[in-house]
Amino acid sequence: MATKPSLSVERLSRHFPVTTRRWFKTTTAVVKAVDGISFTVGEGETLALVGESGCGKTTTARLILALDRPTSGVIMLGDTNVHDVTGDDYRRYREQVQAVFQDPWSSLNPRMRVREIVSEPLVVNRKRSRREIGERVAEVLAAVGLNPSHADRFPHEFSGGQRQRIALASALSSDPKLIILDEPVSSLDVSIRAQTMNLFRDLQQQFNVSYLLIVHDLAVARYMSDEVAVMYLGKIVEQARTEALFHDPLHPYTKALFAAALPGHPDVQREEIILEGEVPSPIDPPAGCPFHPRCPLKIGEICETVVPQFRPEREGHWVACHLYPEETSAPGAAEA
Ligand code: SF4
Repeated sequence: MATKPSLSVERLSRHFPVTTRRWFKTTTAVVKAVDGISFTVGEGETLALVGESGCGKTTTARLILALDRPTSGVIMLGDTNVHDVTGDDYRRYREQVQAVFQDPWSSLNPRMRVREIVSEPLVVNRKRSRREIGERVAEVLAAVGLNPSHADRFPHEFSGGQRQRIALASALSSDPKLIILDEPVSSLDVSIRAQTMNLFRDLQQQFNVSYLLIVHDLAVARYMSDEVAVMYLGKIVEQARTEALFHDPLHPYTKALFAAALPGHPDVQREEIILEGEVPSPIDPPAGCPFHPRCPLKIGEICETVVPQFRPEREGHWVACHLYPEETSAPGAAEA
């Protein structure tokens, strides 16, 4: 990892029991929404978690926001173990970890004025005076390119892009260490996506904040992140620095994701990879490699029976696939 970690996630799992009733028989199964994942986010850096819906990205974000408790594993923000914090410590923790969600129409309370929305993360810390809070609101509104004199307006008086700036101003107001960006530009008009992504990047430098970017759009991941982790059925199947991953993806699932994405330039030719079938049900995941029922490069019985370990194939580039023979075991190994 290039810089000191701001966030460190170690062997994190979230399993949900699911009970089904059929005729007179009750069965309880376990959904492994997140299954033994490990990663770090460097100080002032962006890690993108990419993958299809239901791969565990959002559950991971909820665990880091302390909105849910893990089944096992550890989340450290700096020296703080997230799931040890209670009371005032929990309030301080939530000042340090903020989120910006996909849809600024629904994530901003329409009955609150911008001033109240932006100052919300600040008022939990009762040590700040009204004047200090007012100054901070004006400062972050100016930083995101909004006029501080508009602080008494309501969200509906702003465009979609401006509302996302209000959400970002609110997230930045408490000077957090980490902001979770959950599909931050996917609901915005294409014409303002680039400028919004630039704003996120500029403010990251200005405020020295780390981002965990939850995203399905590979172009956004490439533009905004320093490192990418690809998730499939609750596990990380490949992770590398962004340019290394985009230049030479190793895992067949990552290759298929890239092949399905629109190229950045019309002259760019891509090998066509057609993925067969749907993502399997997490209630009954396949044995062996979880990707084997859809994998166009499956190499036989080993893929159907043996879980590939998550291991470094080359420096800083990790993959869980039998195409790359195992030499070492590693933290975050993809366990059954
Ligand atoms: Fe495909 Fe086998 Fe690699 Fe899984 S382990 S991605 S099935 S080649």
